[in-house]
Amino acid sequence: MRWWGWGREDRRLPLTRAFAKLLDTRLGLDGSSREPVALAEVAVAEPALSERARQRLEESVGGAAWVRSDPLSRIIHSGGKSYLELVRMRAGAPLGAPDAVVFPASHEQVLAVLATASAERVAVVPFGGGTSIVGGLAPTPGAQHAVISLDLARLAGVYTVDPRSLTISVAAGTRGPALEAALAEHHLTLGHYPDSFEFVSIGGCAATRSVGQASSGYGRIDQAIQGVRIATPIGELASAALPASAAGPALRELIVGSEGVLGVITGLLMRVRTRPARQRYEGVVFETFAGAAEALRTVVQDHATPDVVRLSDEIQTAILMAAGESAGRRAPLGWRGLRGRDGVLMIVGWEGQRDSLDRRRLHTMTLLRRGGGTPIGVQSGRAWAAARFAAPYVRDELLGHGVLADQFETAGTWSGLEPLRATVTAAIMEALNACGTPPLVGSQISHAYDTGASLTFTVLARALEGQEEAQWRAAKDAASAAIVRAGATISHHHGIGRDHAAWAEAELGALGVSSLRALKAHLDPFGVMNPGKLVTEY
Ligand SMILES: Cc1cc2nc3c(=O)[nH]c(=O)nc-3n(C[C@H](O)[C@H](O)[C@H](O)COP(=O)(O)OP(=O)(O)OC[C@H]3O[C@@H](n4cnc5c(N)ncnc54)[C@H](O)[C@@H]3O)c2cc1C
Repeated sequence: MRWWGWGREDRRLPLTRAFAKLLDTRLGLDGSSREPVALAEVAVAEPALSERARQRLEESVGGAAWVRSDPLSRIIHSGGKSYLELVRMRAGAPLGAPDAVVFPASHEQVLAVLATASAERVAVVPFGGGTSIVGGLAPTPGAQHAVISLDLARLAGVYTVDPRSLTISVAAGTRGPALEAALAEHHLTLGHYPDSFEFVSIGGCAATRSVGQASSGYGRIDQAIQGVRIATPIGELASAALPASAAGPALRELIVGSEGVLGVITGLLMRVRTRPARQRYEGVVFETFAGAAEALRTVVQDHATPDVVRLSDEIQTAILMAAGESAGRRAPLGWRGLRGRDGVLMIVGWEGQRDSLDRRRLHTMTLLRRGGGTPIGVQSGRAWAAARFAAPYVRDELLGHGVLADQFETAGTWSGLEPLRATVTAAIMEALNACGTPPLVGSQISHAYDTGASLTFTVLARALEGQEEAQWRAAKDAASAAIVRAGATISHHHGIGRDHAAWAEAELGALGVSSLRALKAHLDPFGVMNPGKLVTEY
């Protein structure tokens, strides 16, 4: 992964002229570019890890080769991929770096590292794919003398496959593409494709309650987790892998979404599905977002939900078309069906066996037509599919053009969705207008449930050079306050991390937060696990 952005060194997606023009005119850019500094200019402090702690860590993971303190390793592990982290990284000023990066290869080695870290007072930040977008990987030492990043890349692979029960057991560090490739050999799929799919680890997805693009069909990651094994500073905690159980509250639910503050997820037992024989994605245009959302509600509540649903408002549709065109040759053709029409775009998709797919599609499309939708065919669906993992590449280019580019997300009930969208949009607009940088704010429903839906806001504005942090914070605080005031969730799928920690109590309640802290104090008595995230103080 590129240290200052997304993807491998050889892949970039330059903005098309049309997109650059849209940004220039709507955001008032001055056309200047902002390149990242050279790697040698990135400032990291001298490592603080004591010699004794280093030696014990080396013994825990099988040798000095697996405890690294070279600048590049430390820089790559100095955070995730949030807007602010990328801005700081490109400027050569990450918010700290771990004192060492440690690579365990087994559950037992993770247990040994955590015992050592507790004894030597070293904070531990579990590192899966490194794609956190909420500051979940910030190398905060908290009350400890040093901080290590615990990279789980060596803890990878599928252990067992049970095609009859449709379950697999898998090591937590396994990356999304490697997992899907291994499952394909058995004609299976997990079907979990977040926008960050190319780099995520399955353990990181579980630790953040991640949601994939086809969540309406395959479910959220937490719905696919049958059992989980976690290494804590005081030993192993495992929730049995059973299809269902009434044996008290589900421990699994305490571990999933715990963001590394209780321990390290080392292995998972997952429910998988038979690999689909066919996939079909297509576009439907509606006159208004509210009308389209209402049609979608009917579809979902009539049990006709497609596997993929992406409903964009007018601004998001324009951004999608412009960004999509940057992303692939197929895109311009695909969006042709949309050109010249006013309205909003809904991408819908089905994955499955031939007959059931046709039947399900007919049910959905009948209801969408009845709700005012006009189908525009598969070209737009193909264009979406071709660009489905392009967003982070495009964001790198936007940052290079001096654009504040971020996504804020939440979820609310169907009854409150339109007011929620309006109030959050207005709050972001007001905050960025006050900074003198009028933004473009688009919104999208990308996950639909019986009782409500997610809302993701794409925010683009001229970045105030040198004041990016204050500008972003103004928008983020305004959006978060509006979300909380509306009674919606502070995060539908990115998690709490550091960036949402101040808002956790508003959602979980004071007793909820203190209960989680009590559990943490039990499992992590010296407070070494991921300080400053979720519900921990520092
Ligand atoms: C461009 C972009 C698009 C994104 N799109 C989506 C999306 O569509 N859906 C979505 O859900 N998310 C999305 N995300 C957010 C991010 O990809 C998810 O939160 C993902 O689940 C993180 O997985 P990871 O393996 O990269 O974890 P990391 O980023 O490495 O870690 C995330 C958090 O979990 C902890 N952690 C990691 N592994 C473990 C473990 N094994 N045990 C305990 N704690 C652990 C870390 O300490 C950290 O706090 C996006 C991010 C980016 C940058």
